[in-house]
Amino acid sequence: NTVFVNGELIDRDKAKVDIEDRGYQFGDGIYEVIRVYDGNTFTMKEHMERLYQSAEKMKLSIPYGEEDFTSKLLHLINVNGVKDGIVYLQVTRGVSARQHHFPSGDVVGSVVAYTKDFPVPAHQMEQGVTAKLVEDIRWLRCDIKSLNLLGNLLAKQEAASEGHFEAILHRGDTVTEGSSSNAFMVKDGIIYTHPVTNLILNGITRRVIEDLCRKNGISFQEETFSVSELMTADEVFIASTTSEVMPVVKIDGQEIGEGTPGAVTKRLQSLFNERKGKEAR
Ligand code: PLP
Repeated sequence: NTVFVNGELIDRDKAKVDIEDRGYQFGDGIYEVIRVYDGNTFTMKEHMERLYQSAEKMKLSIPYGEEDFTSKLLHLINVNGVKDGIVYLQVTRGVSARQHHFPSGDVVGSVVAYTKDFPVPAHQMEQGVTAKLVEDIRWLRCDIKSLNLLGNLLAKQEAASEGHFEAILHRGDTVTEGSSSNAFMVKDGIIYTHPVTNLILNGITRRVIEDLCRKNGISFQEETFSVSELMTADEVFIASTTSEVMPVVKIDGQEIGEGTPGAVTKRLQSLFNERKGKEAR
């Protein structure tokens, strides 16, 4: 398995991280996870644009331009012959003696990328998964896809240790998103999801869903909703690059709707599949 480290393609076993890399010491960096379906990337442009937006928001300089970086990643995908999988990439603020403030301008960011086989979680997508409600204790810049994921990890662990697929986060009474996904509820045929603010990550899958809704006459409202609205919704689903449109059939042990994947969720899954077939490139 070949990985990309600072401009070079090397064997996974040869890849090393400097102990004073700011990504390693502070989580001072950003990342993306991009889907590969049947050897083609899906929504890569959107992911790359978000990467550069995250970089700008934290005043991080990515050593390559967007087009150059994109072709490097496509090359890596080819070299590894990825069929159904992901490419993970991260950029940190580079290596320098530990200090909180940014290093001088001549320190170049560290860039790594690798691919991984990742089949679509078909069984869970068909049966639905369970989730646990967890208080959202993260910082106030969740719009940045930062390596600092401790709040997300603690939430996911709390859910996973009880056998749940995802933690659905709420700030006080307001549902924000999943620990590694966006969260949606369906009530009376209308899909609701948290508006794009600093409190959530503007998911690429979320944007695909919004577009699918718009083009297929499904009502899509970017509006906050409460924990009790979530619990009494007709349907709940989460969405991410790796989980696509994932039905949530039980939250905190309580069935949502009929306790099975709902009609709107299933329709979105099939629209999403169609889009994948058309747009993976
Ligand atoms: N929200 C959070 C906190 C995430 O970590 C992720 C993805 O990992 C998402 C939302 C979904 O984003 P995307 O659809 O771009 O994968």
